[in-house]
Amino acid sequence: MTLFAKIIRREIPADIVYEDDQVLGFRDISPQAPVHVLFVPKQAVANTDGLADDQAELVGRVVLAARNYARQIGIAQSGYRMVLNTNGDGGQTVYHLHLHLLGGRQLHWPPG
Ligand code: AMP
Repeated sequence: MTLFAKIIRREIPADIVYEDDQVLGFRDISPQAPVHVLFVPKQAVANTDGLADDQAELVGRVVLAARNYARQIGIAQSGYRMVLNTNGDGGQTVYHLHLHLLGGRQLHWPPG
């Protein structure tokens, strides 16, 4: 079982800031911006490459959860970035699909 599956099951503590029936959002333990929250589907999927073609709804829920949270905390107007890392070259370290919501400062591009 992955670390994030254990957070979903409340077996490992996390700073949870968002929850609905399908998605959990919690603060990244090593924040890269003033706002850095991870949104994960409660249903386990390794990453975007592991998504089945009929799981578009699952990713859509994760995106909308992050969108709603960004509005709620007041960074929708200033802006934010959503990131989905996949496998080694993508920098993925935890193999339970997660969306990074980053904001609260000017984010640079390209990320490097
Ligand atoms: P990724 O590199 O895209 O797989 O992102 C994994 C993220 O999980 C990293 O940004 C880590 O800082 C974060 N992380 C690792 N352990 C924890 C934890 N226990 N609670 C919250 N975030 C974590």
